[in-house]
Amino acid sequence: MGEQPDIQAAYLTATTAAHTDPALLDWFLAHGLCRVAVEGDATGAIIEVIAPPVLLLGRGAADVRACPHPDRLGYPAKPLAAMTLDDYHIFLLRYLTRAVAAGACSCFVCRQPIHADQPAAPWDGIFIDKELVCWLIIHFDCKRGLAREFKGYHPFELAALPPEPYDVSHD
Ligand SMILES: [Zn+2]
Repeated sequence: MGEQPDIQAAYLTATTAAHTDPALLDWFLAHGLCRVAVEGDATGAIIEVIAPPVLLLGRGAADVRACPHPDRLGYPAKPLAAMTLDDYHIFLLRYLTRAVAAGACSCFVCRQPIHADQPAAPWDGIFIDKELVCWLIIHFDCKRGLAREFKGYHPFELAALPPEPYDVSHD
């Protein structure tokens, strides 16, 4: 019947949505950054499943994180309600810098740990707005391998954990 995978996917996606702050989820919806699927549940009812953007801090299941809400972390530059998408990128780059400093990140392509004190191997936080909307971390030198590695990532097959509350209150 093919129903079981859909239900499983809906469950995984609901986990991500549940770990995304409701106000941030609304903000993502308003900015067209959520993916929506319509699926049947176990009783045959039609349900709408919302997949918000995620952070991919590496390739492991525990590296899939819900996006952080800047206000909740004391981000001083601007409240979420006043942010453009560019503002949110800037906030996330600071957040990802903290995640790298905490040793929580590895390159999406080569899978090696990313360290803050490796000027020979600079990294970047990349925003991807395709079938899956996400931010991921990658070495500059690994970018040409991204398209190949990104194949197979689907928004309705990811279950994000809550974001770590890194301190983003200062530069
Ligand atoms: Zn790499």
